[in-house]
Amino acid sequence: MSDYRAPVKDALFTLRHIGRLEELSKTERYGHADPETVASVLEEQGRFMQEVFGPTNAIGDREGLTWSPDGVAVPESFRTAYAKFVEAGWQGLNAEVEYGGAGFPESVFACAAEFETAANGALTMAPGLTTGAIECLQAWGNEEQKETYLRKLVTGEWTGTMNLTEPQAGSDVGLCTTKAVPRDDGTFLISGTKIFISFGDHDMAENIIHLVLARTPGAPAGTKGISLFIVPKFLVDDDGTPGERNDVRCVSIEHKMGIHASPTCVMSYGDGGGAVGSIVGEENQGLRAMFTMMNSARIAVGIQGAALGDAAFQKALQYAQERRQGREIGGSSKEPALIIAHPDVRRMLLFMKSHIEAMRALIVYNASAIDFSRALEGDEAELWDDIAELLTPVTKAWCTDVGMAVTSTAVQVFGGMGYIEESGVSQHFRDMRIAPIYEGTNGIQAMDLVGRKLPLRMGGVVGAHLQRMRDTDAQLAAAGDDFASIRTNLAAAVKSLSETTDWVMTNGLTDPLQALAGATPYLEMFGLTTGGWLLAQLALAARDDLDAGSSDTAYLEAKITSARFFAEQYLPRVAGLVGSVTAGPDDLYAVDGDTLASV
Ligand SMILES: Cc1cc2nc3c(=O)[nH]c(=O)nc-3n(C[C@H](O)[C@H](O)[C@H](O)COP(=O)(O)OP(=O)(O)OC[C@H]3O[C@@H](n4cnc5c(N)ncnc54)[C@H](O)[C@@H]3O)c2cc1C
Repeated sequence: MSDYRAPVKDALFTLRHIGRLEELSKTERYGHADPETVASVLEEQGRFMQEVFGPTNAIGDREGLTWSPDGVAVPESFRTAYAKFVEAGWQGLNAEVEYGGAGFPESVFACAAEFETAANGALTMAPGLTTGAIECLQAWGNEEQKETYLRKLVTGEWTGTMNLTEPQAGSDVGLCTTKAVPRDDGTFLISGTKIFISFGDHDMAENIIHLVLARTPGAPAGTKGISLFIVPKFLVDDDGTPGERNDVRCVSIEHKMGIHASPTCVMSYGDGGGAVGSIVGEENQGLRAMFTMMNSARIAVGIQGAALGDAAFQKALQYAQERRQGREIGGSSKEPALIIAHPDVRRMLLFMKSHIEAMRALIVYNASAIDFSRALEGDEAELWDDIAELLTPVTKAWCTDVGMAVTSTAVQVFGGMGYIEESGVSQHFRDMRIAPIYEGTNGIQAMDLVGRKLPLRMGGVVGAHLQRMRDTDAQLAAAGDDFASIRTNLAAAVKSLSETTDWVMTNGLTDPLQALAGATPYLEMFGLTTGGWLLAQLALAARDDLDAGSSDTAYLEAKITSARFFAEQYLPRVAGLVGSVTAGPDDLYAVDGDTLASV
């Protein structure tokens, strides 16, 4: 039995007030996702994850994986848990109804994915990548490909992978050299080596559908010459069942710091002449199609920050209520106090709680922007689509950086025991460390935010986001003394962010290096301000519920405290980051590589 408890109540509160679930469920597309149905789905899914995925988490970390020339074997407990997952139908929660999915909104799915990841981050990589493959094929696959692959992916009987990385092509996907040679029957023969492919091989599903980036003969250099191919582990027979083995193999797996039971595979395509693949979308347009998968995966990686952060927080909170050390300041007891009595431990716990809630809110807001872009039409739909685009690098990078800080703080709450594997908390910290790296490193996300997302609609999208944040001021002003410091600190943070955004956009136009040198602290400003704004909205909603006579007083008052703590202790840091953003590149390039070592 794991001790993880899915935070269903908080997810529903966030969906109601940030995801505007009620409004969303009034649209034609999401009419079935009314708040009551969503509540029962998340209750049930959370229970499943606690009881089925959760208990396998530490086992996977200890046992790891077994590689042989025949393939990768996951721990027995993973096979059993995954079979139950398929049987319960959780894979298809947000997939299109036409292909057997339940068609729930992305925002609801994001909450379910948080519970799943928190229960077992390594195992969740398999369904996570399958979700990305489903979204990519729904958007870009032709009818035959959809018919052949989607249903089995949606049930989870088959899993999906994402094959971008090669030894010489990491962040720079344009350096991809994997080849795709056309054949007379319209298929392609794929050959090359991909590295670091998550769940590239395993024994939980009867087929694995690889989505592979490769170049056709004579394709233009760089990202403009990349196409996307479906390469199944087993070729699919006319009756839809897996047939002959395709020419693709996992030739080794990596030994890693964390996510020990998630196979990270070196995949060899075409050792026997070429793996058979079919092209997705147009030739040389593969990166566009892959971006559908990557955007979904980027939000999923952001979710890892909230999920592993919360799993670690829950352990730390329990420990703080059991461990006794020191005397309570101002207390009369001669007995050692519970460490939760000490102000510094309280500070750590509130840091974790408020940041987890801010991450959850940002993820739900980002996902609900996708939902509204799909449920509405015309200009409104386009604006929500752009907001989702703007927020995706922030969700990925800010939530994973904060996830690192939260899991590290949870280790700190345990003292020395946190460094000992037996506590279980160090696994969350180790598992978390990959998230700022994969799916485009956080440095690349910051460059994406500054270089591609701020210029959307000539600054109109970020302008609309900043304006929404300013618009909350009137509600905060009317909410009384409890909200005064939230109001002041939020207004100051939005002002700093707004002025710095102008600086970044103006200077970025004349000299991109100026803007890119400060891209990472700019993303941090953006994440902190947006997180503080979302918490302020949740606090206002909590006040409304209290005023309306809700009996859930402790929970709702804690929401207001969370927002105030974040506003008073973290929003002032936004102004402190201005100097880092605007410092420019001179010092960064003033010292050459060898001299940096100071030896
Ligand atoms: C456990 C694990 C699972 C993975 N799963 C998958 C998977 O399923 N599919 C897949 O295709 N890949 C996968 N990856 C690969 C992962 O996405 C890459 O490792 C990541 O994109 C970074 O590439 P790289 O390792 O080559 O680092 P590099 O690109 O060499 O980067 C090294 C450093 O340089 C920085 N950097 C690089 N270029 C720039 C630039 N232009 N500007 C500023 N900074 C830059 C980076 O931010 C980083 O700090 C996985 C990796 C791991 C470790």
